[in-house]
Amino acid sequence: MGCGRSLTQFWVKLRAMAHTRYAEGAGSTAVEQMMIRVFPFVVFSSFLFAQENAGRVLPADQALHVLAFGDFGSGAPVQAQTARAMARRHEQQPFNLGITMGDNFYRCGVRGVDDPKWKSRWENLYTPLGIPFYATLGNHDYGHPPVICPAERGSPDAEVAYSKKSKSWHMPARYYSFKAGPVLFVAIDTEGWSRKQLEWIRTTLEESTGDPEIKWRIVYGHHPIYTSGVHLNERRIGELREELLPVLKSAKVDAYICGHDHDMEHVRADGMDFFICGGGGARLRQFHGTKPGTVFRHVSYGFLDLRIDQSTMSVQYFDSKLNPLEDPMPVRTHSPTN
Ligand SMILES: [Zn+2]
Repeated sequence: MGCGRSLTQFWVKLRAMAHTRYAEGAGSTAVEQMMIRVFPFVVFSSFLFAQENAGRVLPADQALHVLAFGDFGSGAPVQAQTARAMARRHEQQPFNLGITMGDNFYRCGVRGVDDPKWKSRWENLYTPLGIPFYATLGNHDYGHPPVICPAERGSPDAEVAYSKKSKSWHMPARYYSFKAGPVLFVAIDTEGWSRKQLEWIRTTLEESTGDPEIKWRIVYGHHPIYTSGVHLNERRIGELREELLPVLKSAKVDAYICGHDHDMEHVRADGMDFFICGGGGARLRQFHGTKPGTVFRHVSYGFLDLRIDQSTMSVQYFDSKLNPLEDPMPVRTHSPTN
């Protein structure tokens, strides 16, 4: 099979890399000899764990009510206020699961699984909802940009490892996929962007086309593809538009959800819906310019509320006081792909 062959090629490449790295010159030491043997296993296992298909987490016939938000871990009172609005919404109409768009911990991520921010900025605020959250990484989780965090770097691996300590926090790898109800969710790492990840996204989406249970494909991560927010000219956003967007379009992805810009915006373009929900608790920023295709935008704290069943996907933005942001209340219905 193609997959088996490419794994074999990858293994051969790793062995060649080990030789180049540790055996340059004739007199390599015993340690270097050992590294030649061990190196391919170390890299190969990190490759296996770097990306994960988390399988099905809710039955295929389950209609979903999904909570989505990003850019939240500021520790400011408004983060707690927005979390209370989510909890009140959950009391009225329970969510099945949550997805987060990164910048989980300002300004420089967490230092480890015992960082006190886990309790004050995650567990105390979101775990009481009693639902699983499937998180992604933002630039601040890496401690980027370095000018903001010259002395300390956030640990993305600690955010992955913390999944084993928490009832609510799920990040099985830096990027991963899972199935819930009729939806394939693909959680991506736009800060740790790579060719390898892009190929994994392409393969994951392609493989889902043969799955009769998948009626919708939602990809989510930190950086926008389209935005009229303050980051609109950022290099990474241009790269995603150039590299990721064609993959999403050819796989007929229904929606791309993200944060990074601290605002709320819904753009319809290229046959897809793009949702920014970066109002989870970090300081808001005004829009810069206007994006053609914007159907709604608002500078506000809050969250995105999605309802998805076999034939319909509806969305609604709420602010941090649980007021619906759109007027009149919109319900957007799509024809499911597949
Ligand atoms: Zn960001």
